[in-house]
Amino acid sequence: MDEHRLHRQWMRHAIGLARLCPISPTAFSVGAVIVGADGVEITHGWSRETDEKVHAEESALNKLDPDDPRLPHATLYSTLEPCSQRASVDRAPCTDRILRSGIRQVVIAWREPGTFVENCVGVEKLRERGIEVVELPDLADEAMSMNRHLKL
Ligand SMILES: [Zn+2]
Repeated sequence: MDEHRLHRQWMRHAIGLARLCPISPTAFSVGAVIVGADGVEITHGWSRETDEKVHAEESALNKLDPDDPRLPHATLYSTLEPCSQRASVDRAPCTDRILRSGIRQVVIAWREPGTFVENCVGVEKLRERGIEVVELPDLADEAMSMNRHLKL
């Protein structure tokens, strides 16, 4: 299977996870999947999965040992651009968590709009640090579909 088709397949899985998020009037519903170099899922997460503030990428990474040797070869799929700053100041932005994890490739479906945080620079920050970021804009609509109540 070519790489793009594979990316789309995993993104569809992440979109399915985004549909599991408890609906919030003040935060996006996002799904995230971490896939190993062998093409097998390592773990996944979704927004508000474990507590009312947890982000999808954060929830997925929280399930792993930070030194998990699979991480530097893994790809992280997230329906939404990882945050570069967040309202909960006691928690690291997902961009920082991803950089710390050693993950080298991130695939997203849509960029964070200015609804809650002005000027998200998650993609730029990741690319600056040498992470390959792949965008799947043709899946953006589907990835946004569970967030329509938020007046994007
Ligand atoms: Zn985040």
